[in-house]
Amino acid sequence: MRLLGLKTFRHGVHPPELKDETSGMAIRRFPFAPLLVVPLVQHLGKPSLPVVREGEEVLRGQRIARPDGFMSVAMHAPASGVVRRIALTPSISGRMVPGVYLEPHPASTQEVMDGTPCPPDAEPEEIIAAVQEAGVVGLGGAAFPTHVKLRVPEGKRVDTLILNGAECEPYLTTDHRVMLEQGEDVFAGIRYLLRATGAERAIVAVEANKPDAAEQLEKLRPEGVPVSVEMLRVKYPQGAEKMLISALLKRTVPSGGLPLDVGALVVNVATAAEIGRLLPRGRGIQERVVTVSGPAVGKKGNYRIPIGTPLRFLLEEVGVAEDVNRVFLGGPMMGTAASSLDISLTKGTSGVVAFTDTEAERTHRRVYPCIRCGYCVDACPMFLNPQQLGALAQAGDHESMAGEHRLMDCFECGSCSFVCPSHIPLVQRFRSAKASVRKAKAGAA
Ligand code: SF4
Ligand code: SF4
Repeated sequence: MRLLGLKTFRHGVHPPELKDETSGMAIRRFPFAPLLVVPLVQHLGKPSLPVVREGEEVLRGQRIARPDGFMSVAMHAPASGVVRRIALTPSISGRMVPGVYLEPHPASTQEVMDGTPCPPDAEPEEIIAAVQEAGVVGLGGAAFPTHVKLRVPEGKRVDTLILNGAECEPYLTTDHRVMLEQGEDVFAGIRYLLRATGAERAIVAVEANKPDAAEQLEKLRPEGVPVSVEMLRVKYPQGAEKMLISALLKRTVPSGGLPLDVGALVVNVATAAEIGRLLPRGRGIQERVVTVSGPAVGKKGNYRIPIGTPLRFLLEEVGVAEDVNRVFLGGPMMGTAASSLDISLTKGTSGVVAFTDTEAERTHRRVYPCIRCGYCVDACPMFLNPQQLGALAQAGDHESMAGEHRLMDCFECGSCSFVCPSHIPLVQRFRSAKASVRKAKAGAA
């Protein structure tokens, strides 16, 4: 393991890490809510199709929805209980989506239903099918169906698999704890991933603020598996796919391209751990590890929480300050502010971070005119010009933004907004400009 001359990407920022309160807290099991609501849209792609009826008894781990085509995944019961309703439920995006309302049986929630195991030496296609059947999506927050990522298209080749353990978002310590406590699962998952993609080697990338996790993984690193553990310099957004590839492999993913275009594939460490934990038993995702933190939270920690747990129940259980103001799903840099407390925890929720009125006031600062300091330009890891993009957004010139100014290369990391002394909400402007560009494109098609 390299410790000196740590690698990183160019540009980026250093927001306060704020991880100390939870990084030392072992993963604890969270109680079952009286009613779990499993949204059938938790991933990018088509909604899953329910295979249970209202009034039906289900066992924990039982498949309750099947994938609708390749760009979709299965869903599993997070608890044994009764399906009360199959009806619309609010989602993180604010849209209503179909969901399965499940009332858990208090006494029977510990039983888990096993399916057909998939061994690590199975054929690549079998592993890809098992990953889809296990309902695995990117647990780092993107919720992209993992099996889709694993199918390497004809004519392409993956030489390096990168396991993303950077976890550069403030507050979040989910991946840190998973690496510390589930190292064997991570390596078991890597075996499956190497076999499925045909990659020659794997690198587990860990930011240098988690030396205990890197040491633990180094200790557990299995013989005969081409995998190394590499520490990276602490910098945001180190955990973005393109930044990891740039830091570790010195390769640049082309504009509009994918990691596959440069022979790389990036999978989050928690996703790998779930694959390693679930596939040998033929199980599906029923729960996930979530960091619950932030100034408004009472019992901060890392919890293994059933999928479908209502946000309201989660916050009641941990206790929140009376003046709780904003609740982020994911971290405060790239996460989404919860539109309602009636939404449920999904597979892509890596963190729940709650802020008080005082904190929110501090972040809602007065906006001043641009002083052309150039800090945003120096911060952007995609080498865009946020100052110019911001001016074009104000003028509504989306065409120039999307054309010569490469708006669609912006992955909304928020580094530019973070450093702007005029408090210009650059990333919000880019987000809405990107939505308009996508809408216009869809209308023209
Ligand atoms: S950081 Fe803010 S003030 Fe400075 S150039 Fe960029 S937009 Fe203007
Ligand atoms: S939000 Fe977009 S423009 Fe701003 S720093 Fe990140 S990638 Fe660059």
